[in-house]
Amino acid sequence: MHELLRLDTRHVWHPYGPMPATVPPLLVEEASGVRLRLADGTELIDGMSSWWAVVHGHRHPVLDAALREQAGRMSHVMFGGLTHEPAIRLATNLVDLTPDGLEHVFLCDSGSVSVEVALKMCLQYWRSLGRTKKTRMLTWRGGYHGDTFHPMSVCDPEGGMHALWRGVLPEQVFVPEPPPGFDAPVDQSYVDVLVRAVEEHADELAAVVVEPVVQGAGGMRFHNPDYLRVLREVTERHDVLLVFDEIATGFGRTGAFFAAEHAGVTPDVFCVGKALTGGYLTMAATLCTPRVADGISRGEVPVLAHGPTFMGNPLAAAVANASIGLLADGSWRDEVRRIERALTEGLAPAAEVPGVLDVRVLGAIGVVQLDRPVDMAVATETLTSRGVWLRPFRDLVYTMPPYVTSDADLALVTEAMVATARVLTA
Ligand SMILES: *Cc1c(COP(=O)(O)O)cnc(C)c1O
Repeated sequence: MHELLRLDTRHVWHPYGPMPATVPPLLVEEASGVRLRLADGTELIDGMSSWWAVVHGHRHPVLDAALREQAGRMSHVMFGGLTHEPAIRLATNLVDLTPDGLEHVFLCDSGSVSVEVALKMCLQYWRSLGRTKKTRMLTWRGGYHGDTFHPMSVCDPEGGMHALWRGVLPEQVFVPEPPPGFDAPVDQSYVDVLVRAVEEHADELAAVVVEPVVQGAGGMRFHNPDYLRVLREVTERHDVLLVFDEIATGFGRTGAFFAAEHAGVTPDVFCVGKALTGGYLTMAATLCTPRVADGISRGEVPVLAHGPTFMGNPLAAAVANASIGLLADGSWRDEVRRIERALTEGLAPAAEVPGVLDVRVLGAIGVVQLDRPVDMAVATETLTSRGVWLRPFRDLVYTMPPYVTSDADLALVTEAMVATARVLTA
């Protein structure tokens, strides 16, 4: 085995993995465009956009240049008492791009932290107004909001990876998963469930927290945007804040720049991350409305006591601005539509495979759901032997490719997914 892999196995903890690892990871030496090049020379299409972030592909000349240019000025300065153009421009860009009404931006160092900050904002808002009983969150099942403790408490309590922590996490209010299907008609009985749950718990609820339109790591499920309108209406009526976690759905992935646009609603608090920096550096942000900021500043403690060491990191902010710049001409919309067509066509044969429960596509997201858990070793071997890198989970083989993926490469990805579905259900 490669000496580096030997050291990796001995010392390096990987995501959601045991220590020491039981399955050695693949050693990547370079990445360019949509391709990863492994140490043994193998090339794989990055059908995951490296966990949904690398929307413009790897080593993009514009992003590389932005990073080099910023490194030539300053790589980091503390954000307490100091500020700088990359962060100011980024905050302004995010205010411009997100739904109207979100005016204030808290820069964070990862998606989980941005959800922590969102929840802290909501809790502190009610505390500042003297409504000290409003300390719980309501969410629907099947969600995923990150791996730190408060975000874990609003992840799916059973299907997710965090069932172990029952008893340690704050106990939130859960309603059933939204009925599946972006285009499925609104289920009035589910609307009633949402409305009743918010009404019933309004006195103790700080906020409703959901991923709009697509539930990502909780199961890659899509729902009708009308349920978001229902949540907006009922939370407003009952003095509960509404948080949208757009960390996975932001920056065009679902066919709208933000998934909230499908519903045409503005939540009180909004999280972005993942594709924010085009997948170059770790950065996320929490936005809120003036109402939330004003409420917090009227409290006995008028500040938001949060301040990561690397808050507003200039390198990350500069590359985020460059990535947003690449999206500014709107051509991402045609690219995502093209990918949606290619995934719909390419994955259609999977629906004929016995053992495939569902095939679904929305924007640049393609999902094949099996009737059994994926055998990861078999799946990875089948996919990589066809030149494709995907990371299935649970019963799902899915892709979220970079927007620059060519039709020919999309065909390779979908063919590999169909082949994998066949092998896994044979
Ligand atoms: C990935 C993700 C997070 C967590 O982001 P990290 O950067 O991994 O901490 C939170 N919410 C959603 C919807 C995500 O997809």
